[in-house]
Order: sequence, then C-alpha cells, then structure tokens
Amino acid sequence: MKLFDLSGKAAIVTGGNGGIGRGIAVGLAAAGANVCIAGRNEEKNERVQREIDELGARAISSHCDVNVEADIASTIAATEEAFGGLNILVNNAGIAALNAPEHMTDEEWGSVIETNLSSVFKFSRAAHSSLAKSGGGKIINIGSMYSIFGSPFAPSYSASKGGVIQLTKSLGVAWAKDNIQVNAILPGWITTDMTAPIKSDMTDLYEAIVARTPAGRFGQPEECVGAAVYLASESSNFVTGQNIAVCGGYSIC
Ligand code: NAP
Repeated sequence: MKLFDLSGKAAIVTGGNGGIGRGIAVGLAAAGANVCIAGRNEEKNERVQREIDELGARAISSHCDVNVEADIASTIAATEEAFGGLNILVNNAGIAALNAPEHMTDEEWGSVIETNLSSVFKFSRAAHSSLAKSGGGKIINIGSMYSIFGSPFAPSYSASKGGVIQLTKSLGVAWAKDNIQVNAILPGWITTDMTAPIKSDMTDLYEAIVARTPAGRFGQPEECVGAAVYLASESSNFVTGQNIAVCGGYSIC
C-alpha cells in the first residue's frame, strides 16, 4: 500500500469550483487523482479544471446543482465515462442563511437543509453502486463546527451540519460491507466567499471568533487538504464514520 497516493483514482468534488471545495479538488489532483469539478457556475468550474490541467493532472467539470437529481446522475455518469469508474466522492457544496430562529423563513430553513444535508444523502445514494462496483471507495462529507455547536444566528445551518455527522455514521455502518468508508471533515472558520462578509461587515463576530480560536486566526482552504487526502486514500481503509476537525483548536475549548 502506498500511503496517501491517489494515482488513478476518480473523484467528484461538489462545489469544487470555489473555497474549500476548490482547495480539496486541487489537493486530490496533486495527490494523483482524476477529478470532476461539480458546481453550478460553469465559468468557475472551468477555471478550477484549467488549474488542475496545469498541474499535469486530469480534470473534467460537470454542471451540477446538487439539489437536482438529474444533475447528480449526469455528473456521476460523466465521471465514469471520463475516468473509467468512481472511487471518491466529496460532498462539499453548501450554503448558509443567517437569521434568528424566531425570524427564520421556511425558505431559509428548507434551502439550507436541502443543499447541506439532503443533497449529501442523495449524492451518496446515487454514487453507492458506482463506488461498490469499483471494489469500494471513499465518501468525505464536509461538516462544520456547527456540526457540534448550536448557533443563535444560523439554526438551519447548524441543524443541517449536525445531520451530516449522523448521516456519515449511518452510511459508514451501512456500506462497510461494500468496502466504502464514509467520514467527515469539520472545518473551523476558513477564509472563503462564505465567511468574507463576517470579516468585512460583522467585525465584532470576526474578532470574537479569532479570540476564541487557539490558533488565533481563520484557516485557509488549503489547510483542509491533508485531512481530505488521508480520508480519500488507502491509509484510512479501517476508518469509517469519523469526523476530523480542522479548526485551529476551536472545537476543544
Ligand atoms: P463557498 O466559497 O461559498 O463555496 C461554496 C461552494 O458550494 C461553491 O463552490 C458553490 O458553487 C457550491 N454550491 C452551493 N450550492 C450549490 C448547489 N446547489 N449545487 C452545487 N454547488 C453548490 O463556501 P466554502 O466556505 O468553501 O464552503 C464549502 C463547504 O464548507 C460548505 O459545505 C460549508 O458549509 C463548509 N464549511 C465552511 C466553513 C468556512 O468557514 N468557510 C466552515 C465550516 C464548513 P456554485 O458557485 O457553482 O454554486
């Protein structure tokens, strides 16, 4: 076994066109994987595809709204056709809605639960037979610190990410028989488009987060790559249903 070597493995990264997903997609490619960038914004998809091409690795992009089952099916089919199978699925696409629970609308509740939780189930369900056919594989779900903690200003986000942990365990139990390991990464506060407004418009919150984080800073998307490569590789073949927090210590105090 070559630890951390992903040569010849085929991966899909949802939301792989920006932020943490882009970091993970490029990182998996640098470790040898062939990567499908699955996102809604085709210009952003193609930009990351080119970035991976320039590394000398193979990439395709697929227009994919993770809330549309036909897009999920066509993304899996395109990956199998381009790379001869599917070995790794990273369920990364996500959104947030900021509102107090007493003011939260049905739309702010439902859209976040659909995108962050239901799509993880639907994409994993659709990928199961392809992964099993490849002799097993890896599913990596992206949770959050709000998988662990409650949030007074993002209740639907927190509920969705808490659900991701329990779904990760359930899929891990169910699909161990197929040699599919299912694990989660729980990023702390990472500098991306999602968190940019906190730094620019919510200065008190930004400073409180930095003060509470033992590392004393936000992380960068690339800092999630090591955990992703580990969970995508044969190094983690006896690890399933687990969460790895990549959070500068935010989750331990
Ligand atoms: P981001 O920069 O806003 O990126 C979000 C990505 O999700 C985009 O690539 C976007 O692609 C994609 N996406 C959203 N809705 C989609 C949909 N319906 N179908 C397909 N793709 C969709 O945010 P990020 O910070 O990198 O977040 C990535 C993941 O990490 C999310 O699950 C987020 O909850 C989680 N996370 C982030 C942090 C943080 O501090 N940044 C912390 C913990 C967890 P399009 O533009 O093409 O729609």
